[in-house]
Amino acid sequence: METKTPTSTTSNFIKNIVIEDLNSGKVSQVVTRFPPEPNGYLHIGHAKSIILNFELADEFKGRANLRFDDTNPVKEDTEYVESIKADVEWLGFKWDGLFFASNYFEEMYNRAVVLIRKGLAYVDDQTAEQIRETRGTLTQPGTNSPHRDRSVEENLSLFERMRAGEFKDGERVLRAKIDMSSPNINFRDPVIYRVVHAHHHNTGDTWCIYPMYAYAHPIEDAIEGVTHSICTLEFEDQRPFYDWVIRECEMPNVPRQYEFARLNLTNTVMSKRKLKQLVDEQAVDGWDDPRMPTISGLRRRGFTAEAIRNFAREIGVARSNSTVDAKMLDHFIREDLKLKALRTMGILNPLKVVITNYPEDGVEMLDAENNSENPEMGHRQIPFSREIYIEQDDFMENPPNKYFRLFPGNEVRLKHAYFIKCNDFVKDDTGKVIELHCTYDVETKSGSGFTGRKVKGTIHWVDAKSAVPAEFRLYEPLILDDQEDENASFMENLNPNSLQIVQGFVEAGMKEAKPHDKFQFFRHGYFNVDPKYTTSEKLVFNLIVSLKSSFEV
Ligand code: ATP
Ligand code: MG
Repeated sequence: METKTPTSTTSNFIKNIVIEDLNSGKVSQVVTRFPPEPNGYLHIGHAKSIILNFELADEFKGRANLRFDDTNPVKEDTEYVESIKADVEWLGFKWDGLFFASNYFEEMYNRAVVLIRKGLAYVDDQTAEQIRETRGTLTQPGTNSPHRDRSVEENLSLFERMRAGEFKDGERVLRAKIDMSSPNINFRDPVIYRVVHAHHHNTGDTWCIYPMYAYAHPIEDAIEGVTHSICTLEFEDQRPFYDWVIRECEMPNVPRQYEFARLNLTNTVMSKRKLKQLVDEQAVDGWDDPRMPTISGLRRRGFTAEAIRNFAREIGVARSNSTVDAKMLDHFIREDLKLKALRTMGILNPLKVVITNYPEDGVEMLDAENNSENPEMGHRQIPFSREIYIEQDDFMENPPNKYFRLFPGNEVRLKHAYFIKCNDFVKDDTGKVIELHCTYDVETKSGSGFTGRKVKGTIHWVDAKSAVPAEFRLYEPLILDDQEDENASFMENLNPNSLQIVQGFVEAGMKEAKPHDKFQFFRHGYFNVDPKYTTSEKLVFNLIVSLKSSFEV
């Protein structure tokens, strides 16, 4: 695990609020939290929230908690809890406290009793549908429930009986008693407890009533002494109810809610519900499929925590929603790997070349620099012999103008090796070129200082005898259409070419490559050794990102 990260120096409006609150003495120490519901794996949007919350606490010597908002037993699972912990750590953060909202169920219950005693909550017998129908609209007030004026004693007894399991799912709810004609719909007697007979991943069968998110969340924040409760903009209308709960439940600590714009990325679905659908319907091979925008998918694809953190800092924190170009994320992984990744040669679509004037059993080791932009990475030795592989598209029988790679009669430079000239080629029955016959010029060895003549093309290659077979998995965006029609299912917009698998070769020295080792393959891009499909027999590489980018920050 990485150690704590250096904090960002960029400013944002939430940071300014924290600075003001510290300066005015309103808070003595900033306390934040990242509060995921464990109902799926984390995605890049969550990373934005994690980085914001943890870096704020880091920068101002405060505390940041990881809290599982596990108030809905039906959708939650310990598999998700574990994956979320692993992802937060991998991103480079250490939580100060690890909490579960479900550990506060008793206190939440007691606070609801406080509300009932104050005449601020009542048990309603209406169905969910009736409650919805009587809520009113933006322009029309709601109507009071016939059960709204129950006595405190009756409400206390009914709420106790809800807890004791006397009612079936949906038979009764506890509602806050506020104002059915409030212009803020969240104030129209929101449901705060419901009956759900379901096994909970943490509390087992202890409870059959569960608090609703809008009631539970402020209490969780207050119990933990959170000072700045940061959430996304869609909770803005909930803020008055958040403050109401804190006040009326008489919570000793008073947290404040601040909203920021959620991260949206082009060609990307980001809600856990949709990501789960992709997994459940096997459109991808799990939550960590390298095409997924999940932290685990990005990790398997080959993204680094540093690149994700730098991306999050660059996009910043604002109060208006926008969509970020996914190419920007690519830019940051290129930047991160540029000086770190070994630059090596891999052949994705092999074409055999026989160097007819090279000794039959000859083999030599050629010197190659590991990273032309970072001399500190040193050199390696790569084998060269009579047969090599090049890319199929580095040869054309009838080339167009300005094609500088191999064609009959033309000479090119082999990266780190010699000039070779194409003299002849062999076709199979279908007319496909399957072998080239070339000659090399011993004078032209790379590094020898040869200046006799110039060639326009340089191509990459792999020595055939020592080559290591490798599978390359090439990715395109999973979702085709940026302008996704809100009504069309995103499942109808899946890119049929999002994954292409090709079989090729890499240099002999790559045999020792381990899962998550990252390489730049000359002319192809950055690749990560896949941790799931790589075996001792076969190396599998995920394309992280191609070399070229049209995007610059
Ligand atoms: P989703 O809609 O993807 O399921 P969620 O908001 O339901 O996300 P939670 O587990 O409740 O998921 O979210 C935990 C935290 O992450 C919340 O504070 C939420 O505001 C934040 N978050 C979720 N999605 C994004 C996003 N796209 N950008 C920034 N923050 C996000
Ligand atoms: Mg949610």
